[in-house]
Amino acid sequence: MASEVYFDNNATTRVLPEVVQAMMPFLTDFYGNPSSIHRFGSEVGQKIAEARAQVAALIGAADPVEVIFTGSGTEGDNAAIRGMVEARPDKRHIVTTQVEHPAVLGPCQHLERKGYRVTWLGVDENGALDLNELRAALTGDTALVSIMWANNETGVIFPIEEIGAIVRAKGIPFHVDAVQAAGKLPFRVKDLPVDLLTLSGHKFYAPKGIGALYVRRGITFSPWMMGGHQERNRRAGTENVASIIGMGKAAAIALDRIAEDSARIAKLRDLLESLLLESCPGSRVNGGRQNRLPNTANISFRYLEGESILVLLDQQGICASTGSACTAGSSEPSHVLRAMKVPADWLQGAVRFSLGRFNTEEEIRHVNQIMPSIVQRLQGLSALGKLGHPKRSEVEPGAPVGTAGRG
Ligand code: PLP
Repeated sequence: MASEVYFDNNATTRVLPEVVQAMMPFLTDFYGNPSSIHRFGSEVGQKIAEARAQVAALIGAADPVEVIFTGSGTEGDNAAIRGMVEARPDKRHIVTTQVEHPAVLGPCQHLERKGYRVTWLGVDENGALDLNELRAALTGDTALVSIMWANNETGVIFPIEEIGAIVRAKGIPFHVDAVQAAGKLPFRVKDLPVDLLTLSGHKFYAPKGIGALYVRRGITFSPWMMGGHQERNRRAGTENVASIIGMGKAAAIALDRIAEDSARIAKLRDLLESLLLESCPGSRVNGGRQNRLPNTANISFRYLEGESILVLLDQQGICASTGSACTAGSSEPSHVLRAMKVPADWLQGAVRFSLGRFNTEEEIRHVNQIMPSIVQRLQGLSALGKLGHPKRSEVEPGAPVGTAGRG
């Protein structure tokens, strides 16, 4: 077994060796600028076109020109929301959900501060949306609906086709943050009532700092990044060539393996959940277990603090993540779990295990051997009268805080 056991694939994934190999020539010999007229540049432009076609194939786009390369999933979400709103200056209303990634929450909160009306749809205790609430929210003033496909913390999947049909019936554009769905769920965006869709390479074994935004042909959209004519005037800036090539390669591999990977990973995830629920009294799964990504398990340990569990897991070489965003000295409970009304005694103790292509059954069994003693140790600290949750500093004095990423 590898020296570290990596269960944080929703935060990021390991870059595949085939992807690195495909990228290398564009970091060395093929350094031409794809916008240059000469052959040395235009050959690179040709390779970008191939990568665009590979990404278009992964998401089932009708035409590769609908794919715009961006610098991240965050950029794609910002460009979609701000670009659509700016192109519709007469509309002043946006609909989104309370459980989006900060890459969507941030621009929506920004627009709210600027005077837009934002409807923040809630979820039930399973993390599911009430589609009647969505129907009731749509008005003639709605510029955009932005709803994620799969939740990065719980893995809960929203019924994108059904949502899109409701939104399209009202003639409103629909943006989907598919950062956690792409490469994990098979879909063909051309057959779906979806107008814009965000992707991020590092969630499917490409490098960090490269993403894509799908914009359906015919959708009016104001570019977010202005300057040069790259990406058909929709995203200025000299292309991150090597990473684009890497994302294309990773997309082709993901498309090839999606069914096989999902089935294998879902089995491992289900095994992990059933073993941990059995071996650790006072544990529960957060989020409905029916409509979920195959790789994500969000498990709460009652009365404990997820951060402390992570520190002790880390000491054993096991990488997972918490459901809570931490700021120095205090840990805020996850906005996703709060929206799901997870009861107070379970709220802080959430740990997200997100599996990937390289995980094995041996690793699952290894974690299950270690976890009960961690839980017992922390429960002991908790019972010693330390009100509620033992803090990270009590299990690892001097531990830095503020570094927990949720992906
Ligand atoms: N949206 C979701 C659902 C995510 O999980 C993430 C990253 O974790 C993002 C957007 C942002 O992507 P990036 O890290 O490429 O900026």
